Amino acid sequence: MDAYPNSQASTQGFRETQEIPEVPLDLAEIDAVWGRLFSVRDNLSGYHLSNESHSFGRGNVDHRFDSSQFNEQFLSAISKTHFRISRERKSAAEVFVVLEDLSCNGTFVNQQLVGRGKKKILQNNDEIALAHPTRKVFVFHDCVKNDDAKYPVELTQHYTMTKKLGEGTFGEVRLAYRQGTLERVAVKILKKKGSQLLLNNVKQIENEIKLLQSVNHPNIIRLVDVIDTPEKIFIVMEVAEGGELFDRLVTQRRLPEMTVKFYFYQLVSAIQYLHMKNITHRDIKPENVLLATDKELTLVKLTDFGLSKLAADTSQMTTFCGTPTYIAPELLDFGQLSYTNKVDMWSLGVLLFVSLVGYPPFNLSDDAKLRYQIKNAVYNFNHKIWTSISDEAKDLIKKLMVKDPESRLSATDTLNHPWLQDENLKNRIQDLENSNNVKKRSLENGVEDSEITMGLPDAKCPRLSSGKV
Ligand code: ADP
Repeated sequence: MDAYPNSQASTQGFRETQEIPEVPLDLAEIDAVWGRLFSVRDNLSGYHLSNESHSFGRGNVDHRFDSSQFNEQFLSAISKTHFRISRERKSAAEVFVVLEDLSCNGTFVNQQLVGRGKKKILQNNDEIALAHPTRKVFVFHDCVKNDDAKYPVELTQHYTMTKKLGEGTFGEVRLAYRQGTLERVAVKILKKKGSQLLLNNVKQIENEIKLLQSVNHPNIIRLVDVIDTPEKIFIVMEVAEGGELFDRLVTQRRLPEMTVKFYFYQLVSAIQYLHMKNITHRDIKPENVLLATDKELTLVKLTDFGLSKLAADTSQMTTFCGTPTYIAPELLDFGQLSYTNKVDMWSLGVLLFVSLVGYPPFNLSDDAKLRYQIKNAVYNFNHKIWTSISDEAKDLIKKLMVKDPESRLSATDTLNHPWLQDENLKNRIQDLENSNNVKKRSLENGVEDSEITMGLPDAKCPRLSSGKV
């Protein structure tokens, strides 16, 4: 077994094994990879599992973790022998992959503690974390028992599909690894046949692809690839591993003003870019704002362009899904055919309000009241929570949540508002964007970078005939 960057021998082993798939081999004789640990961290490489047993930790083990992979604090929480992964045979026909926890601070599988001295059977796509349920390190890929056959070869020749990231309106989104570079990506799977996709929805998907193909901004989710097969469309995107801003708001209730400013500046930059390209997003809400990492100060990535429109397109907005909390007053006028990109600025104002205090500006329990309040921009800062929020932030909300779109601030005006004049904040965002760009370029060029761990091309699992295990 090797870490990917040095695994020439294992890789050759794969190719040889792949060429003789029909020979009924005895498992004990197979010197090949039966599992892979895909890293979910930038500085850590993945591992091929080919021996009967592999130990991991920071001591004298088969695979030693060190300070080039983890920061001091994380490394010190890892035991000398933290866990072991091995294959165990219950009978000739039953072979299990088992993780044994040997640590003081715990090994977690799918956020559940295994427990010192205890064992857990590993399943394909299980997520392994060390010393804390959220300190994710690897996703386990079972080369023998997996659902690869579920996916068309057009996809699997380029990407190895792993765990589910979420479920959308039209299908699921999964974490995947690009063959060769092992770049982590998100793959949105949309069924074409036998699904309930209405013509309108297909248009929405095509619209999203078209718009994503035309944009390139650090705060807009990057489209990597589109794989169109007779049954399904696979939209491959940059992965945002910190999840939705919505979930962060739900768990933390409200975010510190500094954090909100950090996210908001980036969002307005993305909207300014879109508006300059004559694109109106039309569906800005915390569910459509993804975060690049689990860290508090991280890059935000605007997503979900299904409802977005080029300015030249004056078609009516027909579908309002879920709550209209973020919809601009002019869009609530029945029969309204034309509107401007200022609808996005209103939504940003509402998003700013919600992020700062953790509750919406309007009464959501009564539909008639809600519509009245939105149409007339009726909201207030009366709750005592607002005393801890700066006057500049409130001033910006008042200038965004303005009934008359003409008088509402534009994206450029917003970026020039006093609340967002913070050089330190801009520099920190710039630093994050720079390192994100270095990573993006390296992965695109297939060049090894000190910060990025690359895999070998064609490092695929051997395909064993079913019934072997
Ligand atoms: P919807 O159809 O509701 O707009 P999506 O299909 O875009 O939702 O996404 C469904 C889920 O997958 C969401 O919960 C989102 O958090 C997650 N997701 C979507 N895109 C990405 C991505 N690029 N990176 C990480 N998670 C994503």
